[in-house]
Amino acid sequence: MALRLPVYMDNNSTSPCDPRVVDAMLPYFTEKFGNAASRNHAFGWQAEEAVENAREQVAELIGASPKEIIFTSGATESNNLAIKGVASMYRKKGNHIITCVTEHKAVIDPCMRLERDGWKVTWLPVDPLGRIDLQQLRDAFTDQTILVSIMAANNEVGTVQPIAEIGAICKEKGVLFHTDAVQAAGKIPLDVQKMGIDLLSISAHKMYGPKGVGALYVRRKDPRVRLDAAMDGGGHERGMRSGTLAVTGIVGLGAAAEIARKEMPTESVRLKAMRERLRVGISSQLDYVEVNGHPTERLPGNLNLSFGFVEGEGLMMGIKDIAVSSGSACTSASLEPSYVLKALGADDERAHSSIRFGIGRFNTDEEIDFVIQDVVRAVNHLRDMSPLYEMHKAGIDLKTVQWAAH
Ligand SMILES: *Cc1c(COP(=O)(O)O)cnc(C)c1O
Repeated sequence: MALRLPVYMDNNSTSPCDPRVVDAMLPYFTEKFGNAASRNHAFGWQAEEAVENAREQVAELIGASPKEIIFTSGATESNNLAIKGVASMYRKKGNHIITCVTEHKAVIDPCMRLERDGWKVTWLPVDPLGRIDLQQLRDAFTDQTILVSIMAANNEVGTVQPIAEIGAICKEKGVLFHTDAVQAAGKIPLDVQKMGIDLLSISAHKMYGPKGVGALYVRRKDPRVRLDAAMDGGGHERGMRSGTLAVTGIVGLGAAAEIARKEMPTESVRLKAMRERLRVGISSQLDYVEVNGHPTERLPGNLNLSFGFVEGEGLMMGIKDIAVSSGSACTSASLEPSYVLKALGADDERAHSSIRFGIGRFNTDEEIDFVIQDVVRAVNHLRDMSPLYEMHKAGIDLKTVQWAAH
């Protein structure tokens, strides 16, 4: 089979819809278009049944009960609803939240807004592999702490946090635990009971479902979690999220969750093998390649590499046939290099020269081999033109060089 270019290897940003997901959704655009809240006719009942089926499919993926699943417009909404909803509902109990510096912006920004509005937020640091320290977490609790929000797996470097241990500490302290599980859901096993999770955010488009739909798990007993709603108007979703349900998208999320759950045991092995093939293929042919994130406690399909003596922007331009993300400034809206890599202790150079490979369900070994070959070619080409690499190779310590001012 001929290789189709460009190769899509940015599955931590978004993933294509699985054709099986699209098939499940299609009837709900045209024949089965009912409003799930219409109680008076078959169109409504049919839509409601589809939504309840999806609720079961999503619940089963994370070991929850269907009644604990709230459908949203995506994980940004789920995170906002969880964090601000708890902050507002438990304001009399306390005003302190614990989170971490490598969270997605959809957790960081709601926490920063709460900070501006008078809440106290502790921003836990991470170690060089991207994990929080459990003793630092323990030490961060005060008698005002009402919520801990720590992501299950990081979207840039793939590091998986010790979620069960964090959940156990939160239980011991009697504090609610929210996790942004967007990257972890459907990729690694999650169980809200075993892991002591009280709130959990997921997004359909990161697991081969459609964009614009997600869910929030909200624990119903031991303890029963209450949330102040952000959206009022009709009392849908147990009053926590009003608005006509996006039936087609919800059906897609449900189908995506079921496929991911059933295929996880075999798919995670396949992805991990491809990731290692990519890592070994590149680092056996190039020197000064470093893995960002944890070597073992990481998402099966995520590989984040930094390439010494090359500029991220130049490298991205050199690999135009591969769709990946870079930790350097020029590919994102902000001017700063990746705050996640900097939090892991990477200097600007290492952050700037990083590339995230997000390997997914539709990638093949053939594509991995193409990517290896193309990256090696591009890095060698850039280094051939780099006086720094040449000087380094000649044994000159670049840190001692006196550069002429210009
Ligand atoms: C993509 C992502 C989000 C945002 O999800 P949307 O559904 O696109 O709003 C939140 N957290 C993490 C970790 C993500 O990767």
